[in-house]
Amino acid sequence: MPPDRVPATTSASQLVTYAMCPRKYAMSYVYGRRPEFRSLALVTGSAMHSAIAWWFERKILGGEPTIEAAEEILAADLLAETVGQEVRWKDKTPASLEEECRALLRLYLLEKGDLPVVGTEAPFQVDLQDPSTGEFVGRPLRGYFDLRLEGGRVVELKTSSRGWSEFDLVRHLQVGAYAFAWNTLHGGPCDLEVQVIVKLKREPRVESYRIERGEESTRWWLEAAREIESAIAGGHFPPSPSALCRECEYERACADWTGEGEFATDADTYAPLLDERATSFDM
Ligand code: SF4
Repeated sequence: MPPDRVPATTSASQLVTYAMCPRKYAMSYVYGRRPEFRSLALVTGSAMHSAIAWWFERKILGGEPTIEAAEEILAADLLAETVGQEVRWKDKTPASLEEECRALLRLYLLEKGDLPVVGTEAPFQVDLQDPSTGEFVGRPLRGYFDLRLEGGRVVELKTSSRGWSEFDLVRHLQVGAYAFAWNTLHGGPCDLEVQVIVKLKREPRVESYRIERGEESTRWWLEAAREIESAIAGGHFPPSPSALCRECEYERACADWTGEGEFATDADTYAPLLDERATSFDM
């Protein structure tokens, strides 16, 4: 495997993908394979994220956006995300997905639309450096804070098909990455809020979790990131077959995998994914 092909920076999404399945990581980030389909979770998360960002950006500029206008932005984004794409619709149709997403957006904006947001999609990049020893443990960590509030708190938005719990957050690599970045930029403990838009048909809701972690509390995450970064640098991308294979966007390519030779000739299509705005993570 050619580790020189990996992106120059790492991200929460890269760490999560590697932990899920190293071969899937290689397909996406090392060989830049085109996904075989778009998952509904990704489509939903991306469109919801864009509509919510639009809402707060209008407000930051002094506007008074309406929920109806935000819903139209959402509908346009859903169309852009699905037309001409191979989407795995399961029991949904484009119309039922739009209806469901409109209801979720309305719910979110009625509950959270007045948050004192001062910035959206704020980019960051920090060195992946052990704060105790100064040792660099991997590539620089790059990402975006979804919403920045007055007073410094940042909000991470998620859509999920089920509710989360405090326990889900403890070992969550994405949450750990944002806590580490916040602490590196501002000094700990971080002031982070994870808002989960739960897409349950009978009981859609928005859950909020406050994360306040100092350096000691991000140690587990840092050691996990160190191990993952070391494995990526070493070119270790074994498959990790599990129930998740049914939903894997590279299932056919994985089944056809014959070893290094097949992808060594794939340089022309190499286009590693560098958009790190992970908007959805169904645990
Ligand atoms: S099909 Fe399974 S083992 Fe293969 S890349 Fe996808 S998740 Fe990994």
